[in-house]
Amino acid sequence: MTTTRFPPGQEIVRRYVRGPHLTWAQATRVVADDESGLVLWLPEGADFAYRINPDGGALRGAPTIEAYGAVPLALRRWTDYDVLLLHPPGAAHSVWWFFSGGSFDGWYVNLETPFVRRTDGIEVVDHHLDIVVEPDRTWRWKDEDDFARCTGIAGFWDAEQAAEIRAEGQRAVAAIEAGRFPFDGTWCDVAPDPTWARPQLPAAVVRLTDDQSARAS
Ligand code: MG
Repeated sequence: MTTTRFPPGQEIVRRYVRGPHLTWAQATRVVADDESGLVLWLPEGADFAYRINPDGGALRGAPTIEAYGAVPLALRRWTDYDVLLLHPPGAAHSVWWFFSGGSFDGWYVNLETPFVRRTDGIEVVDHHLDIVVEPDRTWRWKDEDDFARCTGIAGFWDAEQAAEIRAEGQRAVAAIEAGRFPFDGTWCDVAPDPTWARPQLPAAVVRLTDDQSARAS
């Protein structure tokens, strides 16, 4: 089977889905898409949509699929950091390089299903559990409470799958502690093509959001 790859520079959507619901969408630009993985650039200011609670905060660890459809998908902009993302082929995680003011500020390992290609981007199911990695490679689990709360609930993961999700994290931890790729300094000095414009979400995603004011600003 041949894979239709995304050309460098193309804007694509990085989506999270939960059951039938789109829960998160980042407008990104393709840096590379080849046998070593899909690499995306998510600059500060890029279009970003996610589910919010009535208080305006992000919906976190809702313990039912229905809860994700019951709150609005808000259109915002990605703030504070530029991010380079690597989706290794077939891996149940992505690795994020955070940059603040152009300086590398640490990695993040997002545990998720291996990505699936769509015509306008990719789709994953987030596994809630994450790993935060400092530039000196000290690391910690993140969102273990959300991960535990959703374990055993229909539409999320059972105990056996939870163990595999954590094992995927442990494999990343082994690479972190050994200073192996991608935690070996690769891409820590990356800079985007200065001609690249701010990535925007396509109309098909914007239409799903409740608040399109971010688009006007
Ligand atoms: Mg996550």
